[in-house]
Amino acid sequence: MKVSPQNLIWQPSHATSESEVQGTKIGVLALQGDFLEHANMLRRLGATPIEIRLPNDLVGLAGLIIPGGESTTIGKLALKFGLVEPLQQFVASQKIVWGTCAGMIFLAKEVGATGSGGHVVPLRLGMMDIVVNRNAFGRQIDSFEADLQLTFDRDVPFRAIFIRAPSIESCGPEVEILAELANGTPVAARQGNLLVSAFHPELTNDVRLHRYFLRMIQANKEVDHE
Ligand code: GLN
Repeated sequence: MKVSPQNLIWQPSHATSESEVQGTKIGVLALQGDFLEHANMLRRLGATPIEIRLPNDLVGLAGLIIPGGESTTIGKLALKFGLVEPLQQFVASQKIVWGTCAGMIFLAKEVGATGSGGHVVPLRLGMMDIVVNRNAFGRQIDSFEADLQLTFDRDVPFRAIFIRAPSIESCGPEVEILAELANGTPVAARQGNLLVSAFHPELTNDVRLHRYFLRMIQANKEVDHE
């Protein structure tokens, strides 16, 4: 069956068992930020995390996580290490890529009206049809936790950690919102092979977002990209 990534809907039958992802190589961009925590989470779910610092590191990966940190720094280092184009090609080749927090900013097409201290528009891959608002909730001291309802797993709320987080200000028609704050601000979304979250699931004990990402990778293996 030929399925387009946009049309993929995950049924319970797509649930990824730990053995299915066993040994699957998943990159974690390791220029700056909390890549170690993502790597630990992936290991815990049976996948094999690979730290990515140079273009050649991207060979043979099933997917990639771009961690939280500081988007301006990640952008500068990606440029310095010649990673911008290879990463754009990686996304364009329909590999599954998940950006958390600064990683979400790095994937966004546009950086819009800015929050506290977010006046700098960082260099980014610019590949997901979202406008993000940097530091949308204020400064570091305004970091907070919130219970979210995930559209793909509504039973138990997800306790999400927001650290000087961005928000999704607006998005294109192909973007599906996966979670929003009580006031309706979108904070997690998907567009085809791209996943973003404004918060930090890797700092919690809740593996549901990482499982969702691994399910995207499993489903992507069945897709004909020709
Ligand atoms: N405020 C940071 C930025 O704009 C993101 C913070 C984070 O990743 N926790 O890049």
